Amino acid sequence: EDEKRKYIKGKKLGEGTYAIVFLGRLRSDPSSLVAIKKIKVQKEYREGMAPDAVRELKHLQELHHPNIISLLSVFSSKDQNLNLVLEYLPLGDLEMLIKDTERIRYGAADIKAWMGMLCRAVWFCHENFVLHRDIKPNNLLIAADGEVKLADFGLARSFADPLQVMTSQVITRWYRPPELLFGARHYSGAVDVWSVGCVFAELIIRHPFMPSDTEVQQVSVICHAVGTPREDNWPGVSKLPAYTVPDDGEPPRGRDYFMGFFSTVGPDGVDLLMKTLVLDPNKRITARDMLRHPWWHAQPKPTRKEYLPRKD
Ligand code: ADP
Repeated sequence: EDEKRKYIKGKKLGEGTYAIVFLGRLRSDPSSLVAIKKIKVQKEYREGMAPDAVRELKHLQELHHPNIISLLSVFSSKDQNLNLVLEYLPLGDLEMLIKDTERIRYGAADIKAWMGMLCRAVWFCHENFVLHRDIKPNNLLIAADGEVKLADFGLARSFADPLQVMTSQVITRWYRPPELLFGARHYSGAVDVWSVGCVFAELIIRHPFMPSDTEVQQVSVICHAVGTPREDNWPGVSKLPAYTVPDDGEPPRGRDYFMGFFSTVGPDGVDLLMKTLVLDPNKRITARDMLRHPWWHAQPKPTRKEYLPRKD
């Protein structure tokens, strides 16, 4: 196909659950590097699906923002696999920085800079009626100039794993909001905001805030860490298809509890964190209001991107 011929495929860069990623070059300008991500489309999904998928992904190509990875092209290869041509971002992701506690030190100003970039990315997606649906540190890639870029839109994953659409298995479990765990069929930008809150907490404590091994356990972890969804704090929650909560869940946690774990970002930072982790999605802060929060103007100022910590 035409789009495909624009690129020269190079060495394999890495492999994930749903894709293999190759280095690529622009045929017309071989000094310009790209990443070619070949989605492993499931067999039963292949027949005739790739053209639809390509069409659906085309609208992501229109999403241009400094904190969103550029989708340069989409094409399907002869084996009906989906190929995404993406901006090449060789400096790893936020998960690598969070985990490398031996070598990487960072503080409140750095967290504020990274969170600012994440929140602007999410705001821009929602403003354009796109839900990301898989926000987590491993999907926040780092550009050579220090800019953090939201990558790996859940949409691409839903093509690789068609069953997830039916089971609302979007979003990696630890970052999944209670409404999805309870099987809500209609969900909103609030699902991404919850994930942003989980990333925020993880940046501060430098390990996942609410890890679990199963979906049932995930509900229980949320009920202990954040509070228990009940009719009084979330009207209608008990009507959701998969609603069940443990008997010993906590009432929604207050400011003092959050200050105990997350005080490094100060009272304003903790206030923003709490508003992203509100159980009722209708009461959760929106991406737009996150950007209007006083924390951004409180001390310290966010680190300039060129001075942010980086690997190697
Ligand atoms: P995972 O989500 O498990 O990291 P991916 O399929 O998204 O899996 O990516 C696999 C690997 O390919 C990544 O770990 C990374 O090393 C590399 N990679 C992915 N996207 C890019 C990119 N845009 N630029 C450079 N390397 C990338």
